[in-house]
Amino acid sequence: MYSRIQAGNHSSVRMEGVRVGMDEEKKDLHRNRFPAGTLKRFAVKTRDDEFSNEIRERIIRYLSDFQLSHDEKKPDIVISVGGDGTLLQAFHQYIYRLKDTSFVGIHTGHLGFYADWTAEEVEKLVISIARNDFNVVEYPLLQTTVHFTDHTDPVSYLALNECTVRSAKGLLVADILINDEQFESFRGDGLCFSTPTGSTAYNKGLSGAIIHPSLPSIQLSEMASINNRVFRTIGSPLILPKHHHCQVKPVGDSDGFNVTIDHLSMIHDHVKMIEFSVAREKIRFARFRPLPFWQRVREAFIG
Ligand code: NAD
Repeated sequence: MYSRIQAGNHSSVRMEGVRVGMDEEKKDLHRNRFPAGTLKRFAVKTRDDEFSNEIRERIIRYLSDFQLSHDEKKPDIVISVGGDGTLLQAFHQYIYRLKDTSFVGIHTGHLGFYADWTAEEVEKLVISIARNDFNVVEYPLLQTTVHFTDHTDPVSYLALNECTVRSAKGLLVADILINDEQFESFRGDGLCFSTPTGSTAYNKGLSGAIIHPSLPSIQLSEMASINNRVFRTIGSPLILPKHHHCQVKPVGDSDGFNVTIDHLSMIHDHVKMIEFSVAREKIRFARFRPLPFWQRVREAFIG
């Protein structure tokens, strides 16, 4: 699904064929209860270190003993073993079947936001997957659509954490529109559009607000804006509801736009406009025990 287009120090990739936002939105569910036995096929994605791979082998063995099928192509549940970064990779690997797949994360390093089960809890998690009723919670995603000046088709991406926009040539100079109306002229290092679950990631480093994932919204945070008589920005992070959209239009040079989607990075030329909104698609997490969001925030950042 992803192909590299540029060698160099940074991983620079182009995502092809990820057409999003076209599917009919089903019921706007936030939480659903499922009976034991619903999960029949599983896949395991690891960070690929020795310890995570060893846990992967144990999970495959245990779940196979419970008569679940190891199916890396069409899993009902994807178990990520590593950290938040591993879950981000798993999300992008299975982006084509978000409606049919739930995710759960085990961390083999520090407690993660997406990876909240410990390595010591593997047996407990496996039994829960095979034998217990469970909840599925759905969290909002960010849709990013890049439009081009050379009339090539727009490309769309889904992000679980965020999309950042920078200029590979230096300062990013762009107009920012909200719902097609000019809002401000931005000049600075870049812009970060995040999901509610991504609000604790890069967005937090930019002094953005932490948003509860039950609020379908996107957040725009600035990276080091320059303010003068010509370029003036609001300075505060903006939170947009799901029926609003935001556009970034290059002023002057439309080449060399560095767009990141979670851990992925790519360069786009001939950029006419980049549009951001809450995606119709959602990510599903399997919850086998309660995990209050604010508790996770406290444990991660306050201790
Ligand atoms: P990684 O797996 O090393 O992740 C980087 C760090 O971000 C880890 O500590 C991870 O636990 C944390 N993280 C990821 N998602 C999070 C979330 N939703 N809430 C709280 N913490 C989260 O490296 P990677 O795979 O390249 O991760 C990509 C992510 O790194 C990006 O999506 C971005 O959010 C984050 N990032 C942050 C900064 C920053 O804060 N200055 C800069 C670049 C990237």
